[in-house]
Amino acid sequence: MPSDCIFCKIVAGEIPCSLIMEDEAGMAFLDINPVRPGHALLVPKKHYERLTDMPGEEAGALLAALPRLATAVVKGTGADGFNVFQTNGACAGQVVPHVHFHVIPRKNNDGAGFRWKAGAYGGGEMDDVLARIKAGME
Ligand code: 5GP
Ligand code: ZN
Repeated sequence: MPSDCIFCKIVAGEIPCSLIMEDEAGMAFLDINPVRPGHALLVPKKHYERLTDMPGEEAGALLAALPRLATAVVKGTGADGFNVFQTNGACAGQVVPHVHFHVIPRKNNDGAGFRWKAGAYGGGEMDDVLARIKAGME
């Protein structure tokens, strides 16, 4: 584990957190600066910087807890819905370089917002990017 990783320190019990649940694969605790009260983070116990660094089985074991966690967050906050959000790399907004899934409870008209600017494909661009992504799956 990198000695300066804040989430590794939380997993190791070296710094406190508001723990919601833990299992063999991961831990869920409240985000210290919530988008909305009840905003939770689900993190693997083992240090990985990006989701793409995790073996699929380990990601699966971590995510097995997500529906139960989100259900508890929604019930506990009286939310109307929720967002699951995950960042990889500074360009995508990642600040803490240890994999984490944000679970953010939402209320109708809560004003927290969530809209990206939708783009459009130029001629042939969609087929081109599809072919390149599919090549990466082989
Ligand atoms: P990111 O932008 O990397 O996807 O999100 C990192 C999240 O970690 C932020 O929402 C931030 O509020 C949260 N965070 C950063 N440091 C701590 C901490 O020490 N404890 C807790 N509980 N959350 C933290
Ligand atoms: Zn870490």
